[in-house]
Amino acid sequence: MKIIATTAQGIEDIAKRELEKILSKFNVTHEIKERPLGITGRIFIRAEEKWYIDEKGRKRQLSIPEILIENSRTIHRIIILLYLGHVKSLEDIEEATSQVEVEEYLKRKESFAVRAERLGEHEFTSIDIARVVGKVIQNKTDAIVNLDHPSVIFRAELVGRTFILGVDATGDHSLHRRPWRVYDHPAHLKASIANALIELAEPEGTFIDPFCGSGTIPIELALRGYGDRIICLEKFKKHLIGAKMNALSAGVYDKLEFILGDATKLSLYVDSVNTVVSNLPYGLKIGRKSMIPELYMRFFSELAKVLDGRGVFITTEKREIERAIEENGFQITHHRTIGHGGLNVHCYVIK
Ligand code: SAM
Repeated sequence: MKIIATTAQGIEDIAKRELEKILSKFNVTHEIKERPLGITGRIFIRAEEKWYIDEKGRKRQLSIPEILIENSRTIHRIIILLYLGHVKSLEDIEEATSQVEVEEYLKRKESFAVRAERLGEHEFTSIDIARVVGKVIQNKTDAIVNLDHPSVIFRAELVGRTFILGVDATGDHSLHRRPWRVYDHPAHLKASIANALIELAEPEGTFIDPFCGSGTIPIELALRGYGDRIICLEKFKKHLIGAKMNALSAGVYDKLEFILGDATKLSLYVDSVNTVVSNLPYGLKIGRKSMIPELYMRFFSELAKVLDGRGVFITTEKREIERAIEENGFQITHHRTIGHGGLNVHCYVIK
């Protein structure tokens, strides 16, 4: 079986490692490649069929999409791959779709929808792609188009000249939208990226997110079974209450410590921490951009008093964070950019 997994741009290597671990745990022979044909945010998986004996002694096939969906924390979608190749026109897309055995995934009269996306310069729109692909599928199967509540969702993506067609095993909601989120912070981090930051931090000892907002990073860490202290600090009561509501909904409220406070006075609340991971304020959705240089400088000078270990941060404010990191005696050990909410966010590991 061939699968395309999607994730945030810039964390494909971390997602690939996670998928490899899951497949190995289930003894599935596999081959994984990040950014197939150079497409960012995508991971290609070739996995061999795997059978097991259930509790009633029956031989059953292991559903690989299901185990990936249930066990991954960094993936957005799992798409059963039907076609991956280059195309030049809508006619090529039509031809590619007609080569694919969609009948395997769609019964007669079953409802389906095609969700199409397009990136790059083309003489047609994503609606044209959905229309062409949908027509071929309908002609081959007699299935019924239902855009609101389809039983089967096909994903058709055109990135430059690369066309990907598959069956979306995830459904319409991306996996980074966690069911525990009952409080929606205006600048919340995708849970997939929160997990990638946690992977980069390799947390140990007392953990803090000093700008915790709705608690995405601490909650995801607690859900991974972290055994040490996890502290959530936030300046605004409304967001801290939101973080508590989210933690309750995730079933990890008792694993977290909540502090209403100012990260630029960090040493007032904690004597020592070993791991810090945070999505810093960018001054875009909350607050003003002009306050960022001073906020970062004061926060990192406080962090220098209490951090004995590693820190991972993301922000759009490259110059300000680099100045604050260096002037307060920290060293950058790793840097990468990550795509988040249409922005290119800078991620730093420091010690
Ligand atoms: N990662 C969070 C989430 O997923 O919900 C979002 C974090 S948001 C980018 C930054 C947060 O820092 C905001 O909730 C903001 O209220 C908070 N904040 C701003 N200045 C602060 C300060 N001096 N001390 C603590 N928190 C602060």
